[in-house]
Amino acid sequence: MAGLFSKLTKSAEEEPVEVPEPAPLAPIRAGDLERRIELLDSLEDAGLGWFWASDSKGRLIYLSAAARVRLGLEEADVVGKPLAELFQPDDDPNADNTARPLKFVLAAHNSINPMTVRISGTERETWWEIAAKPQFDENDHFLGYRGNAKDVSATHESRRDAEKLSRYDSLTGLANRYLMTKQLTSTLTVFKTAKRSVALMMLDLDRFKQVNDTMGHPAGDELLKQVAARLKRIVGDKGEIGRLGGDEFQVMLPDMDDRGDLGDLGQRVIQMLSQPYSINGMRAVIGSSVGIAVAPYDGIDADELVKAADLALYSAKGEGRGQYRFYSSDLKEGVKHRHQIEEDLRDAIAKSELQMHYQPIVDATTHRVECMEALMRWEHTERGMISPADFIPVAEDVGIIRELGEWALNEVCHQVKSWPETVRAAVNVSAVQFASDDFVKIVRHALQNSQVNPGQIELEITESVFVGDLDRTLRLFRELKDLGVKLALDDFGTGYSSLSYLRDAPFDKIKIDQSFVRGCSADDNNNAAIIAAIVSLAGALGMETVAEGVENKDELTMVKKQGASHLQGILFSRAVPPKDVLERFERGEFEYEPKGPDRYRPDRRTEFRRIGLIHDDHRYKVVLRNLSKTGAKIEGLLDVPVGTQVVIDLGGGQLAVATVRRSEGISQGVEFETPLITDGAEGLCTRHRVSPYQIEAAGRPLAKLDNDAYAALAGNLKGSAKAFIEVEIGSGAKASA
Ligand code: C2E
Ligand code: CA
Ligand code: CA
Repeated sequence: MAGLFSKLTKSAEEEPVEVPEPAPLAPIRAGDLERRIELLDSLEDAGLGWFWASDSKGRLIYLSAAARVRLGLEEADVVGKPLAELFQPDDDPNADNTARPLKFVLAAHNSINPMTVRISGTERETWWEIAAKPQFDENDHFLGYRGNAKDVSATHESRRDAEKLSRYDSLTGLANRYLMTKQLTSTLTVFKTAKRSVALMMLDLDRFKQVNDTMGHPAGDELLKQVAARLKRIVGDKGEIGRLGGDEFQVMLPDMDDRGDLGDLGQRVIQMLSQPYSINGMRAVIGSSVGIAVAPYDGIDADELVKAADLALYSAKGEGRGQYRFYSSDLKEGVKHRHQIEEDLRDAIAKSELQMHYQPIVDATTHRVECMEALMRWEHTERGMISPADFIPVAEDVGIIRELGEWALNEVCHQVKSWPETVRAAVNVSAVQFASDDFVKIVRHALQNSQVNPGQIELEITESVFVGDLDRTLRLFRELKDLGVKLALDDFGTGYSSLSYLRDAPFDKIKIDQSFVRGCSADDNNNAAIIAAIVSLAGALGMETVAEGVENKDELTMVKKQGASHLQGILFSRAVPPKDVLERFERGEFEYEPKGPDRYRPDRRTEFRRIGLIHDDHRYKVVLRNLSKTGAKIEGLLDVPVGTQVVIDLGGGQLAVATVRRSEGISQGVEFETPLITDGAEGLCTRHRVSPYQIEAAGRPLAKLDNDAYAALAGNLKGSAKAFIEVEIGSGAKASA
């Protein structure tokens, strides 16, 4: 044994020296202290194992000299130093810290089972695996620890590298799905006890596939890296970002539950990610959709929360891209709906359920129709009319948009043949359709088959076709123009606008998106100035301008004043079936008279929703007729005095404090104390909700919010007599104005 150790300690010697054969040693007996110490010394010197000991106060009183020398420390640096100071815990946030922290073990005088610690005060990062047993005297007084240690720096580092690799996405350096899930799970566990909240954002890039397909995979990779960098800049130290794979990202935001702030952040993420990217000198534009869920409101554990955020994301994508959406329990309905659309859409053409309707685009001065926009209509046998805003995105996702688009083009070309030469038809072209190689061929065939005059066909193309290969896009534009058709740039100003490409693209017309027209006469926005700017830009480039979505006289006055050359909107006409168009033309009626309300009503939508109204200790059932950010119109209670303070229960734990401002019979107008915020899509919601922790405190088990969160919170309300008379309102009942 000793021979082996002495050989090892001599390994540093340069020259092998002639050693005389040693005499065989006698066995070491337990009483032979001197030789036992010699044995231990050689073990220490070899670095095979080191020993250490501490006193009852937890201070180091012994450390193998070889260990100290290896650390490059003086005896004074270590002896007398508290163990808890010398042995640092692994503070890598991703380390498996399942063992109890050393501090607690030491304080409890427990055994130290092998654990890895970092040695403080050393120049090179050094990791030891330590183990020790507490020592007690016969009266059970703690004397200190006796332990051993070995240097595991090398293995620790390589293990950490490997872990890093399997926990981080190698492309972007962000946490991967495994790590995100792990972090989310542990955060939720800790936060549950502390009654804190965690928000989860799921995000997915729109049109990323297009970049990958048209610009190549290395470009796609570069894009993902840039997306990650932008995300880091936006999120900062507010949360953890991960890439789950493909173009899916996740952001975990501790202590965020204000949906106003979350919505702002979601909006900022969408805005930042939709700014153009420069990739190897090429320009790429993508969008993103965001789904948001908050624990404990929308889910308690990681699985539940991720599912909720996923559903919200799914719904955001379905609503048209470039939106955020909060989770709400009725989203589940929406998903079923989407699957249904996916399935049925495949047969819609064959079953002749699709039709093209037409909406006039009129000259701004004469109100004479110059063009009809063809808008697809789908009358589902069971569901009735389904909006193209609902089924076109699905068709794009599942790849049937090309078929639908080709059908629409042929249909329109045939119908236009029976129109007067003075009226054109505009066909919408999805960016996905535009990206397919045979698009020009399909247009050429449609023109040839129908023998329509190509000058009578206009193609409406959105800005999103400027994704990827700009040269290809411009070449396609030229080829289309050579066929004789006209080109219009649709939805101008909705996110991908770059004025530089407008100069080179041969558009005949720019369509100003409805969002700039809507409420452009209200004085709290700069829409009028934007419209004026677009009009003058188009003028300089020799293009016409269409103001889309003109709904009322105020908007009409404003867009005319800003100089739009053409107008479209329900103020003139909705889209109507081909038969109605023909009849009108046969009667020689080409002028449209504006018919509609005088002014814009901000954000008011007629609803019929059963909600709750809480007054004193009573929760009344009422019907919501109108909801805006600042107030609501409700029905169902008789003669509620003006000035009454109530709480409106919008469901799902959304309580809004309100004051009755108008009251007439069964109908009341209430004003919210704190304005509602947008839920990202069309709806409104409260910033804050009843917390499941509050409900838990009221004696229920912790669970995500259900629709009747208030009842759970309030238990069985009794108390004073009802102050108001409830009147049953049916869905057919008319709102009394
Ligand atoms: P878009 O191209 O921006 O079409 C204009 C939309 O605004 C139409 O909605 C039209 O009905 C609506 N609209 C017109 N005037 C007013 C108004 O005064 N107020 C309001 N609030 N809305 C007005 P629609 O028909 O629901 O179509 C929605 C979108 O679906 C279209 O937006 C277009 O992007 C897409 N789409 C419709 N038909 C087709 C098609 O045949 N092919 C493709 N690729 N997309 C289509
Ligand atoms: Ca359009
Ligand atoms: Ca449009």
